[in-house]
Amino acid sequence: MIQGSFRKYLFLLLAISSLWSGLYADSSRVHIGLFYEWLVFSAVVTPEQGEWVMVADSLTYPAQGMLYVSLVGDRVLFRGENGMRRSCEKLLLKPADSTGVIAIRPLHIPAGKRLYRGILKIIPEPIGLKLILETSLEEYLAGVVYTEGGGSAGIEFYKAQAVLCRTYAFRHFGKHGAEGFNLCDGVHCQAFLGMPPSGHPVYRSVTQTRGLVVTDRNGELITAAFHSNCGGQTADGHNVWIGDMPYLRPVQDTFCLHGRNARWTRSVPLSDWKHYLREQGIPEEMLHSNAGLDFFQPERTDYYRLGNYTVPLARIREDWGLKSAFFDIGIGQDRVILNGRGYGHGAGMCQEGAMKMAELGYNFYDIIRYYFHGVTIQKFPGKEEVP
Ligand SMILES: [Zn+2]
Ligand SMILES: [Zn+2]
Repeated sequence: MIQGSFRKYLFLLLAISSLWSGLYADSSRVHIGLFYEWLVFSAVVTPEQGEWVMVADSLTYPAQGMLYVSLVGDRVLFRGENGMRRSCEKLLLKPADSTGVIAIRPLHIPAGKRLYRGILKIIPEPIGLKLILETSLEEYLAGVVYTEGGGSAGIEFYKAQAVLCRTYAFRHFGKHGAEGFNLCDGVHCQAFLGMPPSGHPVYRSVTQTRGLVVTDRNGELITAAFHSNCGGQTADGHNVWIGDMPYLRPVQDTFCLHGRNARWTRSVPLSDWKHYLREQGIPEEMLHSNAGLDFFQPERTDYYRLGNYTVPLARIREDWGLKSAFFDIGIGQDRVILNGRGYGHGAGMCQEGAMKMAELGYNFYDIIRYYFHGVTIQKFPGKEEVP
């Protein structure tokens, strides 16, 4: 009886542990698809720091100096500075230890050179080379926080950003599973342009928040949204995504009002504006006079209202490539002036507001709880709230 229930318990334990390792597949290591938004056919790969080896299928060679790799047929061709020239089905570049740094510069695309720590896999695809970096979660998160948060903010801002980016990474760990990696390095997932400068505070922001994520009232990882500047009021999550996200409710934000992206203006010819409104189904008689085309948005709303007709502001933002959907419309003699606030979708953490909060002495718990209602910041997986 005791033995039986123990066995059952053991089975459960094994099932749970394999579930964790399956879902969050040893979350201390991540696989990132590099240069995901580009098609890379050839690249120069250079070990910049430490000892490196390359493994071409089953053969291992020391890797030194510039290595030119390209897609030839269905194989990876690589050429070294020493005249070596070989091809293989899969090329791996491995550092002797975790301090090794490698540079990748794809050719014929304007993506520039990027530096990485970790193991680089180069795999031929029918169209282009697939570049996968296997690295530590910390290394990846430091790069994401630096790319998404910039280089000159306060440590508490970086910590808030690190916790949100970790939450996103855990929640979307399987997003690119079918392609052989966890997350890509583009804005499709989280922008990751490689290593930050060594010693940069973003590294500390990641280690000092190790394991911390944001969960909702049901203990689920939240949609860890952030944007550049909310313009004074954050957006309701419903305006940006479908689904119930009670933690993404509008917040009045005075911290970002003097931020770099607090305001914007755009001037559009009146004739173009009317042409656009016609395309949106606004009847001709409403466009005869300019009266009624003005629009004021003291608080965020969803629609530009013209009498009984409406046009979604999110659609206008997209169609005109505007910085935000939070704007007023003023009609002049022959031009329309759009006076806007903020930059980005507006939901979740306002980065410029959060930077200001950090500057004023708020910590990352205060910052996250200010922008997300009723959330818990906790070690994952775990239950207890961290003070
Ligand atoms: Zn992605
Ligand atoms: Zn704001």
